[in-house]
Amino acid sequence: MVGLSCAYALHLRGVKVTIVDRDPVGDKTSYGNAGALAISECVPHSLPGQIWSIPKWLLNPMGPLSIRPAHIPQLMPWLLAYLGHSRKKNVAHIAKALQAINGRVSADYDPMLQTIGYADKVRDKGCIRVYDDYKSFKLSAQEWDIRKQYGQDYELLGESELRAMEPAIGKAKTFGVLQPQWRIIDDPKALVGSLREWLVNQGVALVAANVDALVMQDKRIVGVTTPTGEYLADITVVAAGAWSKQLAKQAGEPCLLESERGYNTTLPYPNIALSHELLFAEEMFAVSPLSVGVRVGGASEFAGLAAAPNYKRSDNLLGLAKRYLPELNTENGQQWMGHRPSTPDSLPVLGPSVKWQGLAYAFGHAHLGMTQAASSGQMLAEVLLEPEKATDLTAYSIGRFC
Ligand SMILES: Cc1cc2nc3c(=O)[nH]c(=O)nc-3n(C[C@H](O)[C@H](O)[C@H](O)COP(=O)(O)OP(=O)(O)OC[C@H]3O[C@@H](n4cnc5c(N)ncnc54)[C@H](O)[C@@H]3O)c2cc1C
Repeated sequence: MVGLSCAYALHLRGVKVTIVDRDPVGDKTSYGNAGALAISECVPHSLPGQIWSIPKWLLNPMGPLSIRPAHIPQLMPWLLAYLGHSRKKNVAHIAKALQAINGRVSADYDPMLQTIGYADKVRDKGCIRVYDDYKSFKLSAQEWDIRKQYGQDYELLGESELRAMEPAIGKAKTFGVLQPQWRIIDDPKALVGSLREWLVNQGVALVAANVDALVMQDKRIVGVTTPTGEYLADITVVAAGAWSKQLAKQAGEPCLLESERGYNTTLPYPNIALSHELLFAEEMFAVSPLSVGVRVGGASEFAGLAAAPNYKRSDNLLGLAKRYLPELNTENGQQWMGHRPSTPDSLPVLGPSVKWQGLAYAFGHAHLGMTQAASSGQMLAEVLLEPEKATDLTAYSIGRFC
């Protein structure tokens, strides 16, 4: 979604674009996600005091976080940086930078959705964060303070209001917070497909090939090599999601990027109707009402890009959903795992290379890739082609890892 959105923004400005993707209609992260435009989410993942919750999460087999032991040595630099970003000063900087993208999401998405014919399939449903009770909501005061600081409205829902809005929620949950800004994509896979088809119909070239390497000439990147030949370009944009790190490393710009694997199950006959996205705050899982069914997902698993999926995580999430949505029909579910491209500071890598002419990056959007895709494309195109009106992308630069 991020790469296609960059292609869209550049194509609109008259650039001749070639997309090189080894699996253009495959099942990558942008296809099976929860489908939320989570516009209010300017809260960094690493927060002060969170370190004390991590052991509890890791020890709980139904918990939201897992790390495969074999992956620990590789993960260590990322993990240490992640913990470092929980300092108050860093949190303020990150929240501001997230808000700078999220604040323009609808302005960038809506024209694109209109153009590609998908506007009526992104709905203003809002999201409800569901808590055990008011006391547990108060424990998360820190994140609500950040949202408030950046002008994100929310409405507290007592038990009767919560149940009136979402009757499917069982008795164990008695408190909610409505975040009206959220929007829900009917089917993320269909949105990606619509954008890709529109680009191809407009004459944008789509090459199904693996990018093996960047082509370097003096101080310039002049294109990419694939098994079927070279593709030369004035500007090469690396937008390969969780797989982007290798290409950046080849350019001598190593960055901390991990696959934060997430799991879900799509239930085609859910037997419940939901009017909002539901986020179960204590257990950290999401339930999304999509056109293809109800999708139950979440989890953060650090196991690298190559390890086989552990669909027990999807089962666990489904068990939790059944506990809190008692009428949910969990039969005939389709399980899925995706690689969130995550940086330790919750910010994407967006903008020109600091070492090379002709090279730019757009990856690392972690939990917010669908939300931030259209804006990332526009922000990158502005910096490359319309610098006079561009946003300062310093906070997202790959240079922060050097
Ligand atoms: C369970 C789950 C739920 C989520 N829910 C949401 C949500 O509700 N809202 C939200 O905003 N975000 C959500 N996300 C995050 C979001 O899905 C990702 O941030 C986003 O999809 C990343 O998009 P991308 O285009 O960067 O990467 P991808 O979609 O992974 O695309 C990367 C592309 O690069 C190609 N590629 C990789 N390497 C090469 C190479 N060497 N040569 C050629 N091609 C290559 C791949 O084939 C692929 O097409 C969720 C993620 C998960 C896992």
